[in-house]
Amino acid sequence: MNANNRKLMVFSDLDGSLLDHFSYSYEAALPLIDALEHLGIPLILASSKTKAEMLALRDVLHNKHPFIIENGAAVCIPRDYFTDNAEKTTLQGQYRVHEMAPRRERWLTALADLRKEFAGQFLSFHTAGTAGIVEMTGLTEQQAEAAGARGYSEPVQWMGTPRGERQFAQRLRESGATVTRGGRFLTVTGDCDKGRAMAWLLNIYRQRYPGECIEELAVGDSDNDRPMLEVARTALLIRSPVHDYPTLHKNRDVLHSEKYAPAGWTEGVSRWLQRHGIVI
Ligand SMILES: [Mg+2]
Repeated sequence: MNANNRKLMVFSDLDGSLLDHFSYSYEAALPLIDALEHLGIPLILASSKTKAEMLALRDVLHNKHPFIIENGAAVCIPRDYFTDNAEKTTLQGQYRVHEMAPRRERWLTALADLRKEFAGQFLSFHTAGTAGIVEMTGLTEQQAEAAGARGYSEPVQWMGTPRGERQFAQRLRESGATVTRGGRFLTVTGDCDKGRAMAWLLNIYRQRYPGECIEELAVGDSDNDRPMLEVARTALLIRSPVHDYPTLHKNRDVLHSEKYAPAGWTEGVSRWLQRHGIVI
């Protein structure tokens, strides 16, 4: 239990934060993940991954807590996690889901409308299918299936010119989409982010722990973590082997790891716990 009517929580990105940027290993973080569980500190995973991908990772990390999927498009709460049902959620299988963005179908329709104009210049996950996703990403078939099971966003491989890509992205934006360029793919999705999803879930916890002061740590390594890092009580920026730390507007209560993930995750979260008088 947390002392002094204080409830600590950790919201963490996965790739490059809790998982090694290259190998996706997490072993170095496991002892501290177990320690958080014993201390009653919920670890909320917040990623651009799909629900299916997150479920697989939660299994290997023995995580039983709510989680944030597809870059904040939805929050999934295990159906019996709270004694009552969180408002504005729908029961989907074993999870109560709070949706914060339009469904993927909307973006598939928008993409279909552009198929003629940009013929042969783009390939989406939906069109590629599992075998195509394997080819595009190098994932195993099982991983590709989980990556393709998207609810709210659609990765698109652009094969035309950079100028064409700008026009293509602009057309999608005109239809209401948010289009972001990642390393390999354009992601077409709604107006959502991890920060707003975290704020919604924090509010749910506050309602269920009245009288306790929640102090949350957000952990991330990239620009898509910025909204979450910016609004969290404390931010932990994990050093990346491929890019700089994300730039934040705030400069109070910001920790930086020296090491890369996953060792940097353990290093930074331990330091945050020490600030709260908890030595692992
Ligand atoms: Mg990351």
